[in-house]
Amino acid sequence: MADFVGALDQGTTSTRFMIFDRNGAEVARHQLEHEQILPRDGRVEHDPAEIRDRAGDVVAGALDRAGLTAADLDAVGIANQRETTIVWDRRTGRPFGNAIVWQDTRTRRIVSALERDGRGDVVRRRAGLPPATYFAAGKLQWILENADGARAAAERGDALFGTVDSWLLWNLTGGPDGGVHVTDATNASRTMLMDLETLDWDDELLSFFGVPRAMLPEIRPSSSAEPYGTTRPDGPFGGEVPLTAALGDQQAAMVGQVCFAPGEAKNTYGTGNFLLLNTGTEPVRSEAGMVTTVCYRFGDEPPVYALEGSIAVTGSAVQWLRDQLGVIDGAAQSEALAATVPDSGGVYFVPAFSGLFAPYWRSDARGAIVGLSRFHTSAHLARATLEAICYQSRDVVEAMRADAGVALDVLKVDGGVTANALCMQTQADVLGVPVSRPVVAETTALGAAYAAGLATGFWRGTDELRRNWAEDRRWEPSWDEDRRARGYAGWRKAVERTLNWVED
Ligand code: ADP
Repeated sequence: MADFVGALDQGTTSTRFMIFDRNGAEVARHQLEHEQILPRDGRVEHDPAEIRDRAGDVVAGALDRAGLTAADLDAVGIANQRETTIVWDRRTGRPFGNAIVWQDTRTRRIVSALERDGRGDVVRRRAGLPPATYFAAGKLQWILENADGARAAAERGDALFGTVDSWLLWNLTGGPDGGVHVTDATNASRTMLMDLETLDWDDELLSFFGVPRAMLPEIRPSSSAEPYGTTRPDGPFGGEVPLTAALGDQQAAMVGQVCFAPGEAKNTYGTGNFLLLNTGTEPVRSEAGMVTTVCYRFGDEPPVYALEGSIAVTGSAVQWLRDQLGVIDGAAQSEALAATVPDSGGVYFVPAFSGLFAPYWRSDARGAIVGLSRFHTSAHLARATLEAICYQSRDVVEAMRADAGVALDVLKVDGGVTANALCMQTQADVLGVPVSRPVVAETTALGAAYAAGLATGFWRGTDELRRNWAEDRRWEPSWDEDRRARGYAGWRKAVERTLNWVED
């Protein structure tokens, strides 16, 4: 058995390949960003060819840095940005246009039509998802209706649909000559096309979006002793490695944070925020605006489900301060700038750039900065941006409490924004709950590696993985109840101001 496991983490802003040893410690990584294509208001795209090529580059780069070859890797797992939708031609491997990214809101009309004739309730019941622009099926319908030749190719059986996991697996196993066409249950659970109970594509849901079944990938477990395929020797690995795991990035982070028992939760702070709670082998239907999703399915074991609070804009609001407003030079500077003032001076920033996701699900909302006076500076805005990350997380913690009756004793966190200590302290203050960050902050890649290594016996079971988890830093709440309550009431009032802004 080889000594290492690899994980390809294809995120919204960047792609990284990481190599881990048996203790779950990082051996090497390579990471590259890709272009965010913003052709007009509401549209967010990626170039599938760029994503494929960056994935190849980071694999080769990390192997090179570590001085390893394909033969040193026992298995490889994939974690991917979820919902982002690609359609390609099985004969040429060429995509029908750019990938439509999860944040893209062009499908607003497709989605609101579902609510007018009762189909929305079927989606809620069967797929566990509130109809929203966020999920893949509307994006797929849009491509079929708008991309040249896509509908005809789909009817002929030549067009293939995939989320990014499927796209990468197809390319890594076969390339233009045609690789495997598979997805895993976690990714499929983000489409609005899969029945959450049977874990199969549902014909009625397919009919809502006009999707021919032949274009859909086979749904496989998230971790599978029988590999999805092996990497092709003339590809970036330069050899044959079994591909034994694929999970949506947030579900992968659950595995990396070893949230294997019902009641265990984590919050990932990246482009957006995603708080997931393990609810065990029965799906819990949300009354409070959470999403019901597959957490993971290991081999033939029953699937494990999660309740999820998805927040579209958190770290990307920090990017917006940097790129659109130019008030900071880099994301890390948001902390230094915010720290020059003791609080936000009553300013609230609700970054509803893509409408509001959980728990509101309001595509008619748009961003707002409220409470401004002549006194306020960019430092207050930076502070309000960090607070917005924390208040949005509180909104989903409240919803989770309402749905599952679970009160958190500690919030496990990970992701790029957790490098910001001021933000993490504010999170503990706003929640009134301690916040805990693990030593390995790259829990998404780690989780994909864990799932891949569990499949081959590289790791023997989840108990072994639990022993690898260690805390790096913890933040304790410091606000009193009164300050916490006043701050949150202000936030709720600010959120109200963002609603009913655009017409459906
Ligand atoms: P993703 O996986 O979604 O691409 P990452 O986990 O890599 O995201 O996190 C990147 C995000 O974190 C970016 O949106 C960036 O603005 C934000 N970020 C990174 N460092 C900091 C920091 N020190 N303070 C605040 N935000 C940060």
